[in-house]
Amino acid sequence: MATQSKAQFLTDAYTLLRRRYKPKGEQDSARLSVLKAVVYGICHEDTTRENANQALSRFKDGYFDWNEVRVSDIDEIRESLAGIPDPEERAKRIRKFLRQLFNRTYGFNLDALAKKPLKEALKVLQTYEAFSSDYVTATVIQQALGGHAIPVDHETHRALERLGITEATIPELRAVLERAVPKNRGAEFLDLIEDLANDTCVEGEPDCARCELRKMCPYAIARKEHEAAARSAGKVRPSKEREKEIESPRPAPAQDGPSTTASPKKSTPARVAKEPPPAKPSPRSKQNPK
Ligand code: SF4
Repeated sequence: MATQSKAQFLTDAYTLLRRRYKPKGEQDSARLSVLKAVVYGICHEDTTRENANQALSRFKDGYFDWNEVRVSDIDEIRESLAGIPDPEERAKRIRKFLRQLFNRTYGFNLDALAKKPLKEALKVLQTYEAFSSDYVTATVIQQALGGHAIPVDHETHRALERLGITEATIPELRAVLERAVPKNRGAEFLDLIEDLANDTCVEGEPDCARCELRKMCPYAIARKEHEAAARSAGKVRPSKEREKEIESPRPAPAQDGPSTTASPKKSTPARVAKEPPPAKPSPRSKQNPK
């Protein structure tokens, strides 16, 4: 798909998804702090934004400050990640980030970076291990640094792939999306693709019949064509077989020797010997025995 047609395709998809999922514009609210955006990114990857928001709320309500999270056991941090897949691994990443941050700055505030040019801010942030994840990096750019980024995780990647938007790597795919979707729609577009991936474009067999994009989605179109071909092959096969039989009628049963076929209707040698041979069937009755 050419870049221009990708942009048009994604605009059309955005319009249809917006009609279906009716976003409430929660993404228009204030930016997150850089620290919160890192934690949000770690929590949000491959799960819903509701789960990630709940985790942020639990950290806010359950701890005095981020330093308390830094010195907590992994099991305690895990409790704040209830409902999120791989909580232990995420708890370790969050605590590691807080420890790195404290060791370098003796504090928990990175917001001065939000005032710097994006490239400069990223150069500093990418020295933290948490930023080895492209998803976390893109989340921080979008949610805290005011840049244009569309984070892609496995869930959104699956839906985009079925829609025919594919690239060799996630950063390349992200670059395509960021060119095609304007910055002021980036966050909402991401929410809509997430809704799609969690509603109809689920893992395993997608529920295309319920999907707003089924008329434009290459996966759904190919699936429909395949099903139609299978249905039509199921109907056509018997008549083709009949045609074959008509073109090559079976030889008439031999009347003076044993039958060469296993058909029980054929005369046995004993019957031939004791009874008069049956009337020779007409060619029609041989072709269509009824
Ligand atoms: S039509 Fe099916 S495959 Fe395509 S996006 Fe919708 S659910 Fe996914």
